[in-house]
Amino acid sequence: MACQFCGVEGPTQAVCFEQNVGMLYARRGTKVEADLCRACIGMYFRSFTLTTLFLGWWGIISLFMTPVILFSNVSQFLRARHLPAPGLSVSNLPVGYQPRLVSQSTFMLKLVYGVAVWAIVLGAVAYHQVDLLERNAPALNARLHSGEITDESDGEYAGLQVGKDIVAIEADIKSTEWSGMRTEMLARVNSVSDLSAQNERFQRRMAIERSQKLGKDDPCEQFALDSIGPSLNDYALSVNQLFAFVKKTSALTKENGESLDNLSKSEVAALKRLQQSFASSSSKGCDKN
Ligand SMILES: [Zn+2]
Repeated sequence: MACQFCGVEGPTQAVCFEQNVGMLYARRGTKVEADLCRACIGMYFRSFTLTTLFLGWWGIISLFMTPVILFSNVSQFLRARHLPAPGLSVSNLPVGYQPRLVSQSTFMLKLVYGVAVWAIVLGAVAYHQVDLLERNAPALNARLHSGEITDESDGEYAGLQVGKDIVAIEADIKSTEWSGMRTEMLARVNSVSDLSAQNERFQRRMAIERSQKLGKDDPCEQFALDSIGPSLNDYALSVNQLFAFVKKTSALTKENGESLDNLSKSEVAALKRLQQSFASSSSKGCDKN
């Protein structure tokens, strides 16, 4: 019997392969039901099954149909696995005969669609894996959450950065004389400017939340707006004042020594208020969601 696809005379088998491309609210199904030779069976199986495997899932109906189709394609393929190849009759083909390929014209479309869909999915997954990504790809994390804080994962990211900045800014100073202390502190200015940037993002977000009264039904949200927000702002301000002083003061005298003392005291006090604010937030159970 001749293969219904390529026309080769030889052993064929009746098979049915399906393909599904999910497009959220729509889906495109393709089906081939024919007597095919060994080579064409393999070609249809690979093309339809791989397409379905990568593009089949994206849609509500598609999500359920895809495993069914994959299972059916594999079992059809296994059923035909002992079918012999056409053999010598292949050489009897008409002059100029060219075997056709399965849907070659749509191959680029499938590829582009597949890459786009998977990029969106992996991007969305990465966006919410704030902690994991911070350990493995901090630069990507920074890019994903670089804009304004618009949702929880942006907020989580900014909070994580603030925590790191505080640890870096508050690390012990080893030097005992001013020039060494000053050098050590000036090595931390990047953390100070990041702290300022994250704080400004938080304050802008909080201004929006206050104007929309988002804390009205959520005690944790309200506590963040009333306590954490203002104390973070105070802390960022006092850190900036302290570092501005350190930057401009190359020699420590009796007079500016007193200013340094006052600035450090108010910085320490602001840090303490911020820590207390975090502590009462977590005692209210607000740090878990
Ligand atoms: Zn064939």
